[in-house]
Amino acid sequence: MTSPTPFDFKTLWLGRDPVHRIRNGQALISVGAVGLAALVALSGARLQGHAWPLLWGWWLASVAGMLVVYAFVRSGWSRRLDDPSMTEFQMLVAMSSVVTSYPLLGDLRAMSMGAVVLCMAFGTAQIGRAAMLRIALVSVLLLFSAVGFSYWVWPRVGTADQERVILCAGLVGIGGSVAMSLRASGMRVRLKLQRAQLQEALARIEDLAARDALTGLFNRRHANALLKEAINADDRLGHRFSVAMIDLDHFKRINDQHGHGVGDAVLRAFSEAAGAAIRTSDVLARWGGEEFLILLRHPSQRQVPEPLPQPLARLQEAVNALRVPAATAVDSAGVAFTCSIGLAHRAKGESISSLIERADAALYRAKAEGRNRVVEV
Ligand code: GH3
Ligand code: MG
Ligand code: MG
Repeated sequence: MTSPTPFDFKTLWLGRDPVHRIRNGQALISVGAVGLAALVALSGARLQGHAWPLLWGWWLASVAGMLVVYAFVRSGWSRRLDDPSMTEFQMLVAMSSVVTSYPLLGDLRAMSMGAVVLCMAFGTAQIGRAAMLRIALVSVLLLFSAVGFSYWVWPRVGTADQERVILCAGLVGIGGSVAMSLRASGMRVRLKLQRAQLQEALARIEDLAARDALTGLFNRRHANALLKEAINADDRLGHRFSVAMIDLDHFKRINDQHGHGVGDAVLRAFSEAAGAAIRTSDVLARWGGEEFLILLRHPSQRQVPEPLPQPLARLQEAVNALRVPAATAVDSAGVAFTCSIGLAHRAKGESISSLIERADAALYRAKAEGRNRVVEV
């Protein structure tokens, strides 16, 4: 068992969940960034002779807006939203703070345009195209209102030409940010696609690495991994299982009489028939050459089924009925073949090697007793 992360100061602000921590961290950085930027604007506004209560009131309102966003994110409330980071809302709050600083800054009001760009840049890497366009539209409207208010209403310090130039600077900043954001969102879409393609390729490679090329069955390596899993399930949950070792009888003779191609066809025919004969909960693997292994799971019963599990009897019947076409076959119906099976039930605490050894010994006995039979130990 892993011990829980110790509770510290950072956890208090960010929480424990890794994804939630990133969101909370981002919300806190935004509080800091707006707090600092608003402090600079506040000193600029002070130079214009505004009264402290007005200035501090504006600063506090700006920081409080960002703290509200942090509270929504930190409390987990924002998890119900499409964007739990609330980036769009955060940008709106910050942008509102910036535009209200515009008239306060008087001669220095062009300073606000830097903050406009900063606000927009904040969302560039985070929000999608539609949200960015929405924000850009609202920002342009807010900007026009701020400039209009400052020119026609209060405190009327600049000429129309000056306001036009400042407005253009703001529009260029917003436009540039939107362009960057659209590019970033295109890159994010491409990255997502590439990640999905990589995952698909990885799954294909993993599947190829687990399978035998001739028969398409699981190979010995994968069978070993499955045996380990079965042992764990048995030890922890009492999911009993057995192992059947299967060897085709006189297979060398088939190769010698009909050629390797027919030998390969026999191996494939056996794999198909055996795969169809076993239960879906059982696993058939090619152990090597003309040897196969079946992992028979008995999850629903604590006792191994008695007598011989039905699937093996079905499998042998199916194999005996097979006829593999071969030009050299004496019988035009094709090559018939049989297989011998050694079956061992896993004993409590038994290792894989011991279990396989016992199944092998049972298979050896099946061969010695005349082949085409099952011997159970
Ligand atoms: P037994 O009944 O005692 O098992 O006799 P057997 O002839 O089946 O056993 P033996 O071990 O003498 O021969 C196995 C043969 O299987 C030898 C080998 O060339 C052949 N073999 C192993 N892998 C393949 C394969 O992928 N394709 C073909 N065609 N033959 C294979
Ligand atoms: Mg063999
Ligand atoms: Mg054999």
